[in-house]
Amino acid sequence: MSITGDHRLLKRLNRTAVVRQVRQAPGSSRADLANATGLTKSTISLLSQELIDEGWLVELEVEAGGSQARGTGRPPTPLVLDEHRLAFVGVDLGLASATVVATNLVGKILTESSAAIDTTSPARASAQVARMIEALLQGAELRRRTTVGIGIGVPGAVDDRTGVLRFAPNLGWKDVPLRDLLSDALAGGLGAGLPLYLQNDADVAALGEFEFGEPPVSEPLVFLGLGTGVGAGIVVNDRLLTGAGGFAGEVGHTVLDVAGPRCSCGRLGCAEAFVGLAAVTHAVLGGTEPPASRDPATLLQSLPAAAFDAGRAARDSQIRAALERAGQYIGLLMQNLWAAFDPALIVLGGPTCELGDALLGPARERLAEYAQAAGLQPPAVRQARFGRLAHAVGAAAAVIHYQVRPLSGAPALVGVLPDAA
Ligand SMILES: [Zn+2]
Repeated sequence: MSITGDHRLLKRLNRTAVVRQVRQAPGSSRADLANATGLTKSTISLLSQELIDEGWLVELEVEAGGSQARGTGRPPTPLVLDEHRLAFVGVDLGLASATVVATNLVGKILTESSAAIDTTSPARASAQVARMIEALLQGAELRRRTTVGIGIGVPGAVDDRTGVLRFAPNLGWKDVPLRDLLSDALAGGLGAGLPLYLQNDADVAALGEFEFGEPPVSEPLVFLGLGTGVGAGIVVNDRLLTGAGGFAGEVGHTVLDVAGPRCSCGRLGCAEAFVGLAAVTHAVLGGTEPPASRDPATLLQSLPAAAFDAGRAARDSQIRAALERAGQYIGLLMQNLWAAFDPALIVLGGPTCELGDALLGPARERLAEYAQAAGLQPPAVRQARFGRLAHAVGAAAAVIHYQVRPLSGAPALVGVLPDAA
């Protein structure tokens, strides 16, 4: 690598370290940041001024006449993330609809819209999504801000370096260059030239919890997305675990029963064939034929109201048995995630969670039983912060994450070569 390349890389690492430190410890002064990052005060001063100029950080007003103002002169100025100047666009590209949101730097939703899309053709779906993004960018709220980039969450495995969607069985898409399709569709509008980040929908939802959670955020963090498809997003050491081919966390296709029912991927007995929303809907409704639709909104609408009310579900033997069984498999899936990643926190999200306690109660109980049997304390489990917008808000968080995530090994590098501003 050239000296210039080294210099740019170091500068990026140092900027990243400063933004992340302010996120973890809001109100840090420049001296605090120098202590926490190992960078010199002059480097911190240069970087923080640059980040203030670009809209990432803002100085808080310090009250005059406080005790710190006497003696050593100027009081230290607290720095916080700036909520008012930047915007991040997130797209949830679903099976039959898309949701587009914009958030600020701390996860406040500024604007959102949803519409049906035609996913029989990736090019047509991309054109529809591009029009939704363009409409959002034209709005007054985003006109006042600088939009940093666009994140896209998709229900499949993604190679985030090439922007290619590798495999999305529920969409029927394989090896689709989705980032390029969207980039072409955005050409000529306000979205032209903005950085595009393509990632799996459970992965971006994990980033939504991680980037927009109350600091300091516990990790490893696992987001378990329960919908037509089932997948986990895993954040370890401040980074998303994506795997060698983008398939990390595709736990919907871990096999829970070697002789189980057929899954959308072709295998037998995958988790999705037990706890996917189509499987749960089929079990609740009974009958021999599985539901014709795989769209989560359509599936939820086909369920009786009693399924969404734990009290009424408990009095209906068919609904109770179906949700208890699916809940126990969700508990089994959480147990396996616990054993694999030892998470500090598991977040449950996705449309299937709208079934509430009749489904999630048995899941928590099953996890607690496994923990008790092993004499261990299970990880904390809670529901997604952004509800049905978890994927879209997470996709906006992915923009922040890709802009200021630490590179692997970054913490050591930052301290070794100071003054790279
Ligand atoms: Zn499968």
